[in-house]
Amino acid sequence: MTDNTVRTRFAPSPTGFMHIGNLRTGLYAYLFARKNGGRFILRIEDTDQERKVEGAVDMIYRTLAAAGIDYDEGPDKDGGYGPYVQTQRMGIYKQYAEELVERGGAYYCFCDKERLASLGDGTGVHTYDRHCRNLPKEEVQRRLAAGESYVIRQKVPDGVVSEYEDMVFGKISVDSADIEDGVLLKSDGLPTYNFANVVDDHLMGITHVIRGTEYLSSTPKYNLIYDAFGWQRPKYMHLPPIMKDATRKLSKRFGDANFEDFIAKGYLPEAIVNYIALLGWCPKDNREKMTMQEMIEAFDTDGISHSSSIFDEAKMRWLNGEYLKAMSSERFYDVALPRIKQAVGEADYDLKELASLMQTRVDVLGDIPEKLAFLNEFGDYDLAMYEHKKMKVDREVALRAVRVATDALEALDDWTEDSVKQCVCLAAENAGMKSGQVMFAMRVALTGAPVTPGGAIEMAVVLKKSESLRRMRRSLQMLESAQQQV
Ligand code: GLU
Repeated sequence: MTDNTVRTRFAPSPTGFMHIGNLRTGLYAYLFARKNGGRFILRIEDTDQERKVEGAVDMIYRTLAAAGIDYDEGPDKDGGYGPYVQTQRMGIYKQYAEELVERGGAYYCFCDKERLASLGDGTGVHTYDRHCRNLPKEEVQRRLAAGESYVIRQKVPDGVVSEYEDMVFGKISVDSADIEDGVLLKSDGLPTYNFANVVDDHLMGITHVIRGTEYLSSTPKYNLIYDAFGWQRPKYMHLPPIMKDATRKLSKRFGDANFEDFIAKGYLPEAIVNYIALLGWCPKDNREKMTMQEMIEAFDTDGISHSSSIFDEAKMRWLNGEYLKAMSSERFYDVALPRIKQAVGEADYDLKELASLMQTRVDVLGDIPEKLAFLNEFGDYDLAMYEHKKMKVDREVALRAVRVATDALEALDDWTEDSVKQCVCLAAENAGMKSGQVMFAMRVALTGAPVTPGGAIEMAVVLKKSESLRRMRRSLQMLESAQQQV
């Protein structure tokens, strides 16, 4: 790097879907780059061929696009530091691993599986005993020329303490005696993560490495590789994990908290992104609802928490509801329409009216079909629904109320919220009943449901005149025949 431009990267592995913990890492790297006028890079870390999942790379692109996290460089956006996909960089790792051997920071190891297995306690866990660390150069050359299988291992220097200052966790140090001479280049020529992350971050000019705490204590080991190459170390920001409860981390292997699942449930990408930004970071003024631009402006490392946070879907629902309420009615209509149509089917309802009924009543778009279930034809429902002690409504009162309302509404032509309301109130008054009683009974009569997303008047307006009266007459019959049986 010749200038001081901040460069951060997001380096997901295409090993499944993207859970919101992964996405949060990408988000923070993005916010940090944007806040500092820097560049944000996407790198696909696909060297683990066994765990690779079909379609996962496309999912990464889709997720970032939906989340509004736009990268300046990546596999489809060359910025001069590519390729940005690790499997397209194979020659590079080999070349640098060999260079590291030349520089004395790594060595060839010819130990076979059997020998390595014999080092352990039988459980497969072992620490390499440095058997090949000091093989004479000629022997190495001879065995390489003979085509023997080898790996390249890190030559961890003796007697040093590798230390760095993490931007979140402060000083982290590890004694080199505790670091294994780990594999950098495998026998198939593929790099391990331990090596690839260093080579790539260096060659891509990454100035700030932002990633999960699982790498916090391995970083001193990576720094020894930077040192052995004579490369400048980047700065590091490790992020505490997001938990699903007090003891378990979110995990994509267990299908937890997948971004696209939340979208399918009817969360808005901007609400998810806003919520996950707050999982582990808090702006100075404790604001909660923020646009991406506001988050960029407010983002600061001081606000990043040292401790893990628990993913709380109820909180995310609440925030999503805030986003829905704050939308213009036009935008809400656009985002809600598919779910409204799902509830309405072929029936002829005013979709705009249904949208405005829903806007303040759902936290997540996926709740819409259930909330609009009252539009479906009802069967024989439980008449106990008409009983309301506080309002002094029993079945007899309900019967009178529904009759009074039905009779009055039959004669009403102009079917608007005001006129229906006026008509029902007047009818209640003339019958010597409370309008609340009539409205309560009317709502049940209209929907056959104990809970509805609006009062009697709203339900009547949505259902329109003929359907409202058809339903009320049917309910009236049910109430009458129950009455006759008493
Ligand atoms: N591919 C690694 C992961 O998905 C990225 C680690 C890093 O950011 O260095 O965990």
